[in-house]
Amino acid sequence: MGLVQHAGKNEAGDGLGSFHHAAARQLAAGRGMAARASVDALDSSWQCIQSDLFAWWNQHARDLPWRFGRATPWGVLISEVMSQQTQMSRVVPYWLAWMAMWPDAKSLADASTAEVITAWGRLGYPRRALRLQECARVVAQQYDNELPRTYEELLALPGIGDYTASAVMSFAFGGRIAVIDTNIRRVLSRVFLGIESRGGASTKPERELAERVLPKDASASVTWNQSVMELGAMLCTAKNPLCGQCPLAGSCAFLTAGRPGLGERRTRPRQHFLGTNRQVRGMVLDALRNIGVEQTSKNAEKNGATGQLATKKAGETSKVLSRDQVEALWADQVQLDLCIASLDEDGLIEILPDRSLRLPQ
Ligand code: SF4
Repeated sequence: MGLVQHAGKNEAGDGLGSFHHAAARQLAAGRGMAARASVDALDSSWQCIQSDLFAWWNQHARDLPWRFGRATPWGVLISEVMSQQTQMSRVVPYWLAWMAMWPDAKSLADASTAEVITAWGRLGYPRRALRLQECARVVAQQYDNELPRTYEELLALPGIGDYTASAVMSFAFGGRIAVIDTNIRRVLSRVFLGIESRGGASTKPERELAERVLPKDASASVTWNQSVMELGAMLCTAKNPLCGQCPLAGSCAFLTAGRPGLGERRTRPRQHFLGTNRQVRGMVLDALRNIGVEQTSKNAEKNGATGQLATKKAGETSKVLSRDQVEALWADQVQLDLCIASLDEDGLIEILPDRSLRLPQ
């Protein structure tokens, strides 16, 4: 159904528009109870949203390798950690290589830290890789190499926050739980409340909304979480939502309201990358990865890892970046030394007595 038809349906008054306005006012003001009554009263409209969304999901969901029951719970967890701050499409080659090298928690727990940092490549925020290895050690030792199956136990693992624990419960174990990430918050806020989600920490009304609209059936709730998230990644993006292609265009309060405040953010604008400490830290890590460490682990050979990870020669030894090589990386030596110190503090590099650098052994 086209955009115009959808808009016409709304203007004709299917009840949803009045819900949007009332609920937006009430939830924005933090009066969740009254808005919940509105949600209950408009269950049939919500059913239309769900069926339109599920039809779109069935046709357009990306065939990512950790979806549709093809990955172990551990593989799902790896995909979720890698996808934080990084687009899923960029994650795919890293995830494939990673899972070929370390298909379970135990194999990752046994890897050298240098291998893990190298395999993380350019996914960004490399401390996540170290936390993942800590998590792997706990799972291997305390849970007999199987991910625990409760939200509380998952949340207690190193580096696992509310989002990742919820996502694993839903996507790996099929549990009924509201998953709340940036994409889901944005879509739900736009569709049901008609207002822009402006970032920052999730609010109580936003969490209440996510829980209220979650399908009661566990299997449907998984599809709901996945499809709302996918819509936010593919169509209902932060700055340029493609409303003309959206299956929810006829039901979307934000579109009906003229997309007020589109793209507004509560948080401060992102720091430019060029010249930042983040860039310098990335440069140092890249240099260390590129001079080569022993990368072809037995796991990679056994599991047929491809690409950069598998091209390193077996038996190649760990290498260091000499002080001269380090200094040649960045002109501002004060900033460079600050970044090296912070990488060392984070456990991402080792500084040797002659001030040369290497990845942790
Ligand atoms: S109609 Fe536009 S704003 Fe509304 S959910 Fe679809 S893409 Fe997002």
